[in-house]
Amino acid sequence: MENKIKIVFATGNKHKLQEINEISKGSGIEFVLPPEGFNPIEDGKTFEENSQIKAIDAARLSNCIALADDSGLCVEALDGAPGIHSARYAETPQARIDKLLDNLKQVDNRKAQFVCVMTLVDANGKILTQVKGVCNGKIATKQSGTNGFGYDPVFVVDDYGMTMADMPEELKNKVSHRYNALKKVLLFIKARLL
Ligand code: IMP
Repeated sequence: MENKIKIVFATGNKHKLQEINEISKGSGIEFVLPPEGFNPIEDGKTFEENSQIKAIDAARLSNCIALADDSGLCVEALDGAPGIHSARYAETPQARIDKLLDNLKQVDNRKAQFVCVMTLVDANGKILTQVKGVCNGKIATKQSGTNGFGYDPVFVVDDYGMTMADMPEELKNKVSHRYNALKKVLLFIKARLL
């Protein structure tokens, strides 16, 4: 049986954990949830700051090397909103989608970008690397698809012409902002830590 290196992934979102384990299949690394009590205060002003806050908190709690991501949807016509507030834009996932579509009613420029910043820290909370991944697309006029989570049903990926929620999981995991960030982290780990 393969002996995998375990790295704590600083999230409470099981869907994100599943995605990054899927993306890193075959790398010899398994990402695991942080111990009970992981509840960082994400009061940073950027994806970079929030990702750092989460990684340091998870390392402190677990005494292990930890990886965190902070991600969100940035819409050009809304000056980058919801951005770092993506998870709190409205009360429920459906309400967040409805609010976004409502705010873009009559707006022609539908350009948007999913952003993911990942921070890897050692067991003492010292930053080893910080990287960014993006995925470019457009906000649809109505939602479509049931895969994924969050804003996936309204995010049409450039060059694919379908929403992330209409994509099979394997395809999302080859084009997503999280994939683009994680592949840089995996290269770093392979070159510097394995
Ligand atoms: P975080 O957990 O603080 O990084 O919040 C990220 C929020 O951005 C999520 O709750 C979603 O609303 C949104 N988001 C981030 N990544 C994705 C994705 O891959 N698909 C859809 N929504 C996403």
